[in-house]
Amino acid sequence: MSDFGFTTQIVHQDHLAHREHGAIFQPIHPSTEFAYATAEDLAAVFQGRQAGFTYGRTGTPTTAALEAKITAMEKGIGTVCFATGMAALNAIFFALLRQGDHLVASKYVFGNTNSLLLTLGSLGVEITLVDATDASQVEAAIRPNTRMVFVETIANPGTQVADLKAIGDLCQTRKLVYVVDSTLSSPYLRRGRDFGASLVINSLSKHISGHGNALGGAVTQTGLYDWTHFPNIYEQYHKGESNTWGLLQIKKKGLRDMGGTLSSDVAHRIAAGAETMALRMDRICSNALALATVLQAHPRVSRVHYPGLASHAQHERATEFFGGLYGGLMGVELKPEVDVFDCLNHLKVAALATHLGDNRTLVLPAAHTIYYEMGPERRALMGISDGFLRISVGIEDEPDLIGDFTQALDAARA
Ligand SMILES: *Cc1c(COP(=O)(O)O)cnc(C)c1O
Repeated sequence: MSDFGFTTQIVHQDHLAHREHGAIFQPIHPSTEFAYATAEDLAAVFQGRQAGFTYGRTGTPTTAALEAKITAMEKGIGTVCFATGMAALNAIFFALLRQGDHLVASKYVFGNTNSLLLTLGSLGVEITLVDATDASQVEAAIRPNTRMVFVETIANPGTQVADLKAIGDLCQTRKLVYVVDSTLSSPYLRRGRDFGASLVINSLSKHISGHGNALGGAVTQTGLYDWTHFPNIYEQYHKGESNTWGLLQIKKKGLRDMGGTLSSDVAHRIAAGAETMALRMDRICSNALALATVLQAHPRVSRVHYPGLASHAQHERATEFFGGLYGGLMGVELKPEVDVFDCLNHLKVAALATHLGDNRTLVLPAAHTIYYEMGPERRALMGISDGFLRISVGIEDEPDLIGDFTQALDAARA
């Protein structure tokens, strides 16, 4: 299968890998427990000597089939799925880091991830936030106790594109675990392993499922990192090839002990959505570039943050990394005199909602919603002005989208 293209592989994987009664989907398995004919078999599965399932909290055949699909998309060596993208992030940080360890993270990250990093800091993990669009800033932050570097490919919501390849080279030289959150670009635009990532995170709630009807997250191990260099892997997980240890610990600690488990029903919905990801992404990316181009020229817009625009600080890098597709997310700053709420209230197509990577175009005023809790000072530091709109572009017909935003901008009160 691995010689096939992105979509061919996804749509045929289940029935070729595992034909149950000819079903083209891996069936939805509701069982929470899995029984064995002999005590020897039961013990062997628990001890990891025999493949199989034990209890639904650590996975079912349905979640395993989704994990195999994500592994194939990322060309990795294994994946663990979680109930949400945030559960996947928690599993990585809490399963792998200990008090006194140092984490270098991009300062341009999703707001909830930023909040999670504050919690991690309060528990004794030292954290340095750097401008990850410049690998030399990551390098300057490295200390003897640095264990991990964390970045987003394209940052939510500012769309900064991290210096992904150079940071990957740096982590390889310094033998650091390199964690890449690929949610905004998705493995369709570029795989995390191409940048040298050790672990790749995808929020499955976004582009991979795509229909706004499922929450999920995934951690994929690329196989590029040799965990013998990482001091925090427990002795009992020094099992098999040393490039597999990290994900085993993430599964045991992050899934079994922390319990952020994806259900079989939801895994099926995500897997069905994933079949059309490449088609949706092509449409979303072309809609987004067209909309960003029009909005940038609108007299009531002061700035558009979108990696596909030549005005974006990392435009050339984004083109090199993502081959001419730039994702569906943009930040649009309205001129200070425009009434932001009135502008949004004039929209007829785009929905006023949080979330991204959906079939529908979604828009929200960032300072009043997802960035409200952090207060004006931190918002200013992160470059989120009161007139900052986060737009997640969907698959609608392009003229409808452009027409909708143009008429709302024209009609808004000053
Ligand atoms: C949404 C998002 C997450 C969290 O994913 P959920 O599935 O909503 O928990 C993590 N990282 C990024 C970049 C995101 O956009």
